[in-house]
Parts: sequence; C-alpha cells; structure tokens
Amino acid sequence: MPTALVTGSAGFIGYHVCARLLNEGWRVIGLDARTDYYDVTLKDARHARLAPLGDFVPELGRVEDPGRMAALFERERPDVVIHLAAQAGVRYSIENPRSYLESNIIGTFEILEAARAHPPRHLLLASTSSAYGANTSMPYNETDRADYQMSFYAATKKSTESMAHSYAHLYGLPTTMFRFFTVYGPWGRPDMALFKFTKAILQGTPIEVYNYGDMSRDFTYIDDLVEGIRLLMDAVPERPEDGIVPEGDSLSPVAPYRVVNVGNSEPVQLTAFIEAIEQATGLSAQRNLMPMQPGDVPATWADAALLRSLTGYTPATPVHEGVARFVEWYRSYYPRNSCDPQMK
Ligand code: NAD
Repeated sequence: MPTALVTGSAGFIGYHVCARLLNEGWRVIGLDARTDYYDVTLKDARHARLAPLGDFVPELGRVEDPGRMAALFERERPDVVIHLAAQAGVRYSIENPRSYLESNIIGTFEILEAARAHPPRHLLLASTSSAYGANTSMPYNETDRADYQMSFYAATKKSTESMAHSYAHLYGLPTTMFRFFTVYGPWGRPDMALFKFTKAILQGTPIEVYNYGDMSRDFTYIDDLVEGIRLLMDAVPERPEDGIVPEGDSLSPVAPYRVVNVGNSEPVQLTAFIEAIEQATGLSAQRNLMPMQPGDVPATWADAALLRSLTGYTPATPVHEGVARFVEWYRSYYPRNSCDPQMK
C-alpha cells in the first residue's frame, strides 16, 4: 500500500485524515510536535486511537527543525504528503506572531525543501479562509485576488501559498493548497467557538459572542472536510502546457499548482450556531455580547464550485446535525465536564 506523510497528525484535522487513510489500508507516517497551544492530553488521546487502526508510524518532532523533514522524506519516500501542522488561530497570533513565523513559514519551507529532494506524487497543504483578507466579495472564489490579510496567522498562511506556488513552478511539484472554512466536529479544538461554547453552556457560565452576534461562518463538518481532502488527493494538478487555465479553475498558468476551497458553501449566522448548541445540550446559553475582535472578519462563505467540478463532491452535513455529534462526543469524552484544557 502507498505511504502518506501527514503532519499535524495529533491535531484535530490531522487525526481524522490519518484515521481515514489507515482505514483504507495506507501506511501513515504521522508527524506532530504536540505543541502546548491547547490541551496536550487531547492530542495524545487522538494519536493513541490511530495506532490500532493499521500501519501507523508516529513521529514526534517539529517541521521547522533543520534537516528533520529532509531525513524523514529520505527514509520514508512518501507517495503523498498532507501538510497540516501549523500554529493555528487568529487571536493567538496577535500576541504571539513568532510561533507562526517558525511553525508556518519556516515549517512549510522545510516541507518544500524535503519535497524538492524527494518529490511525492502529490503535495497537499492547508491554508485557510482567512487568506482571503479584507476586501473579497462573497462567496469567496479561489480566483479572487485575496489581498490585505487581517491577522498575522492569515498572513503566514497566504505566504505559504506563494512559497508553495514557486516550488511547484520551479521544481514541477504537483501541489494542492486547501483553503479550509471553520471546521468543527468530534475531537475538535478547545480554542474554537464550538468547544468553548459547549463547555460554558454545560458549566452554566457565559459565552463571549463577538460583534454582538452579527457574524456568519461557513462551518464545515469534519467528515465532509475529510471526504473533500481524500477526493482531492486523487485530483493531481498538472502544469497546463499552453498556459491556458480552464474557466473556473484556480490552476496556475505556469505550475502544477491549484488552490481549492473546502467549505460547506452555506454560511450560518453565529446566533443560529449557538441555538444549535442549545438544542443539542438542552440548555440555554448566557450571552455576553462583545465588540468585534481585532484580526477577525464578520463573515466567510466558500464558493465550492471548484471542489465540486474536481471531485463531484459538495460538503452537506447540516449544522444542527454536526453540532449534535460534537456535543455527544464532548459529553462522552468529558463525562463530568471536568475538563480544563490548558489554552493560551
Ligand atoms: P490543530 O492545532 O488541532 O492541529 C495542528 C497540529 O500541528 C497540532 O497537533 C500541533 O501540535 C501540530 N504542530 C503545530 N506546530 C507544529 C510544528 N511546528 N511542528 C510539528 N507539529 C506542529 O489544528 P487543526 O484545526 O487540525 O488545523 C490543521 C490545519 O488546518 C492547520 O494548518 C490550520 O491552520 C488549518 N486550518 C484549520 C481550520 C479549522 O477550522 N480547524 C480552518 C482553516 C485552516
């Protein structure tokens, strides 16, 4: 069976991607630094569940460690590389920009260098809806200019897109850059709204509702995201020979490089999202209405036409269903709601 290298394998999305590939019989090398951005025991629990699923090789290490990725690529010669490891989070980047520089910019550089030496069949990297910046009209389309990033997190992710494009062009590396939209579901991140809101509602403490609730997000359920990733793994971009890109495609005119939104394409108001949590928990939220947070945007919305045309697939889990599955997981994982994730 082929080998996949998945970075960020103890993270929320990485864990689910590894589980999917192991269930299909892939050999999976899972690299993660187990950073303490949030509860490390949750990361360990995710990794621990992967080993019994198949041929899983966990690797502890940082992507930006000089030579670390080069040695790993040389040893394993992965067929496919899915680079998800990153310092995520918009708000944390305001006070801690250096960790984004190191993990996201230098880390991606080390991945690209290793891929240059030992090219995988397909290199896939995670970017974000935040890369669209301040001036993009709705819904976000991959061919939009996407300037004026609002946070340093977004700036590092947008930079990695440019870096990956140049490597794809210069060294012929088939590369897909995902733009993910607010992913949620079981085993989700303690720093994200669904986790924080569920925890607070179950504990009877107030939730912080930014922009006085006037926000919307294109919430994407984790199983739908993994399906999109899995199908895109087989949609390997090729360099267009004549430089002409088919209409609606974000394929580069000079490189085997493509940007693809992986999003639900159905934005949901924050107020409706909170109501879905109330319904799933059977409890009322105490809302603490707050102003807009720096670095944030009021709305996101994925144009999912390119994902559909490349894979025939569109994410479709309704938000109330996805939220109910998260709440069910949360209650079973934290039975007495005793968790106190160490968040920064
Ligand atoms: P996560 O924080 O749960 O997972 C990231 C994992 O990477 C963590 O386990 C962490 O320990 C590891 N990591 C961080 N820095 C590292 C480093 N320098 N070296 C090695 N490992 C390191 O986040 P996630 O939600 O699973 O996100 C995965 C990817 O998707 C990230 O690139 C993120 O920016 C992107 N993304 C996520 C969302 C979302 O809604 N979850 C939205 C848009 C983009």
